[in-house]
This record gives sequence, structure tokens and C-alpha cells, in this order.
Amino acid sequence: MLTAADACPAALRIAASFCGNDDAVRALGDMAQSRRIPHAFIIEGADGLGKSSFARIAAAGALCGCHEPLAGDCPHCRKMREGIHPDLTYVRGSGKINAISIDSVRAMRREALIAPNEAARRVFILEDCDNMLPAAQNAFLKIFEEAPPHAVFIMTCRSAMNLLTTVRSRGRIMTLHPVDPAEGAAFIAGKLHACGREAAFDALSRCGGNIGEALRLLGSEKASEEAARAEAVAGGILDAMAGGGELSLAVRCAGCGKDRALAGAVCRLLCEKLRCALMAAVGAQDTLDAPEEPVLRLGASLSPQEIIGMIDEINRLGDMLRINISMPLFNTRLAIILSRRK
Ligand SMILES: [Zn+2]
Repeated sequence: MLTAADACPAALRIAASFCGNDDAVRALGDMAQSRRIPHAFIIEGADGLGKSSFARIAAAGALCGCHEPLAGDCPHCRKMREGIHPDLTYVRGSGKINAISIDSVRAMRREALIAPNEAARRVFILEDCDNMLPAAQNAFLKIFEEAPPHAVFIMTCRSAMNLLTTVRSRGRIMTLHPVDPAEGAAFIAGKLHACGREAAFDALSRCGGNIGEALRLLGSEKASEEAARAEAVAGGILDAMAGGGELSLAVRCAGCGKDRALAGAVCRLLCEKLRCALMAAVGAQDTLDAPEEPVLRLGASLSPQEIIGMIDEINRLGDMLRINISMPLFNTRLAIILSRRK
């Protein structure tokens, strides 16, 4: 972790929003602090290591007009935060291999020659340059050689080795690395308030210190936990419908408690399962995807009209979640809808 003893004020400001990578942060901070920004950066690193964020910070460093570099209080810093700075242009890939085309490079050339709108510089971020074809890279090299002093080009790629030597040698290469899980866990927990430090540490350790991958893992773990809860509640309700009494059904229907998102997911699942029961009732179920036992029993014990009526009412009840039906009322209504059996 950088400290005031070994890093300039601009580097410390960058470190507050970018985790780890002390060497790259210190180097970029020094450039911003001295306002000596190179005309080309190449930011390399695996997916998930923060290349886009780092490129944006480098662009802010080039555009910033704060009295103290990157203090965040000038119009340029504000517009960068809002994503509306007129002197920042993104150049992105297209087509099957998602490569920046020669046409995009030529369009960038025309823009690069125009004086900046508001800042002292005009910045171009060329994202994911790994697949850029040699012809496009050569066109870029040509612009780079004739570009006016106000132009700054920031390329991101998994590895600078994927670029032509001639391009690679023109840019200041900055390499991003995975972070220490303990440092990264504090960073993630500070960003995601719902995520504890321990869960973040665990995810980061499993992802080898790659913050982007850890965030994806945390997101997908949360989603699958929620899906499993909805499956459990809906399964309990179906069991009670197929074999339990009214009381058991009421208890199972209260399984969502006060959780609206869970209640919505349970409604969707119940409708899905009732559709399977309907198919079973009319003898049209998919033999490849045989319904579970409670669903089959429901199909046998309810008439198709009853099932269709239930699906309809559950859908309407699900809609009422969005217009703020109270959860106790939701739970009661659900039990009433589902208890109408022969
Ligand atoms: Zn500023």
C-alpha cells in the first residue's frame, strides 16, 4: 500500500480509487503530478485486472486542470466522473473478432487533428487492441507519428506482445497485476456494501487476486443462492399443495417472509411448475423433461381450468409486488389462490 512517504499526492489520490498495483499507480501519479503525460500509453493485463478503470484514470490525469493534479474539483475531473468529457473518445473493436478496424483508426485520425474542445489535450482510449490487424496498427502508427502535441493515445490489451514491435516501442507500457487478497478484500467490501470482507477475501483467493473475476464470482454466487432459496420455497409450497393440509400450505406460503425479490422469483417458479402440471393434466408433458412427483400429483388432482386460473392469479399477484402490496397480504393471498382445490 502506498504511503505519503513513498508516493506523490497524485499517486495517493489514484490509490484511493484503484486497488494494489503500487508500481503502476506510482508511475501514473508521478506523470499526473508533474503534468508530463506521454503521448501513448499501453496498459496491459489479464481481463478483470482493471485496464479500463486505469485507462480512465490516465485520461483524467491528461485532462485534469485542478490546482492539485487529480484533486477532482476542476470541470474536467467532474466531466470525467460523469462520463461526458468532450475531449475523451473511445475507439472500440467491432466485427467477428472484435478488432479496431482501419476505418475506426482513420476516423480517429481526423478527430485527433482537431484542437481540443475544453481541455489542454484530446485523449483517445483504444480498448482491447490484442486483435487489431497489422494494417490497422500501421495506420495507427502513421497517425501517432503525425499527431499534434495535444493528442494522447491510451491502448489497452491483455499483452503488449500482441502488438507490432513498432507500436509497442512507441508507448509507455504499464502492466497491471492481480492484487493481494487481503488488500483487495478491503477494497471490494468498501465498494459493495452488501459484501463482507471474509466473503471478498475468499472469492479473491479463489480468483488468484483478480478483482474483476472475484466480483463476477460474488455476483453469480449471490444469484445462485437466491435461485436455490426460491426453488426451496416453491418446492415446499407444491409439496403442501399435493399432500399437506391447508395449515401446512399457509405456513409454506409465508416462506418468503418480507423478501419481495424472493416472492417474485417464487411466483415465476410456481407458474412454471403449474404449467408443467397443466401439461401433465392434459397428457402433453415433455417426456424428456418429466415433471417432479408433486407436480404430477397436482396435474392429476386439479382440472386444467383450475390450473389456468391459478397461473393467472399468481401472475397478477406477482405484478402486485411491484405496486407495493404488503408482504403479509401477499403471503395470505398466495395461500388462498393455491388452496382452491377439488
Ligand atoms: Zn481536475
